[in-house]
Amino acid sequence: PPVALGIDVGGTKILGALVDDEGTVLQQQVVPTPKEDEPLLHAIVGVARGLLDGAASDLPVGLGFPGLITRDGVARYGPNISLREFPLRARLEAELGRAVLVDNDATAATWAEFVIGAGREARADMLMFTLGTGVGGGLVIGGRIVRGSQGFAGELGHLIIDVDGASGPSGIPGELEAYSAGNAIGRMANHAFLQGHFIGTLLEGPVAPTGEQVTWGALQGVEPAIEILARAGRYLGIAAAGLVNCLDPELIVVGGGAGAAGDLVLDPARASLADHVLGPTHRDPVPVVAAGLGPEAGAIGAAFLAAEEGRD
Ligand code: BGC
Repeated sequence: PPVALGIDVGGTKILGALVDDEGTVLQQQVVPTPKEDEPLLHAIVGVARGLLDGAASDLPVGLGFPGLITRDGVARYGPNISLREFPLRARLEAELGRAVLVDNDATAATWAEFVIGAGREARADMLMFTLGTGVGGGLVIGGRIVRGSQGFAGELGHLIIDVDGASGPSGIPGELEAYSAGNAIGRMANHAFLQGHFIGTLLEGPVAPTGEQVTWGALQGVEPAIEILARAGRYLGIAAAGLVNCLDPELIVVGGGAGAAGDLVLDPARASLADHVLGPTHRDPVPVVAAGLGPEAGAIGAAFLAAEEGRD
């Protein structure tokens, strides 16, 4: 039987999943993310109602939001989502007639990976990056999620990795998200195409490859696509090096859609981590590994967090 319903609200899609206590997805539903507040709310409600139909009336519900959300559920801001200062938890609870736990989407994914995914062997200290529409992150220190004073900790996508660099949807110049998000990978590919590389010729349709298409191209061996993923990986490694210097984790997990590129991103990330960390030959290398749970990680984590809260 399900232990909770988890809903992962992403910049591109909303994924709801009924999850059992081992993290197995029993049933799931995916819809595109609407661009405006009320349609977005109703899309979330629709997914929740569809999956809750027939479920126990006290089944916990957890939701991951792609941005800054307070512990009491005000969705304050997200670079890749419309909501601003929106009482998401209150509105959902009113619509669904039950309690909803909210957290950051990448924090939820991190918790799932720590408990049952790539980090399940880690004792206490694990970091995760999620490379999706945006770049998210999560920090587990001493076996617990780090949330910070306002609940906004773990925004690893907005670490500055190049002070003179480009900016993404948040407007922060030189942040990791501007280089390693799915959208950023697509943008770099378009730039490469305009400079005469042939990446677009492998792809059907207009010259606007998405991150997913770049990954596909790279897996087919298209050089400019491989180089773009390597660049995303090198920047990821720079951010990881700073975090290793700060936090000395056992493990770094990389998930999200662009995580599907696997070693095409991870090998350059490992090399650049070693190039930028303090005393690389005087410490054990920190493994950088692919996530274990796939695209349901955020929903599984949100379900686990809701189920755990119900037990407290
Ligand atoms: C947001 C994060 C979110 C990530 C992935 C970033 O742009 O700032 O809060 O976790 O995207 O959705």
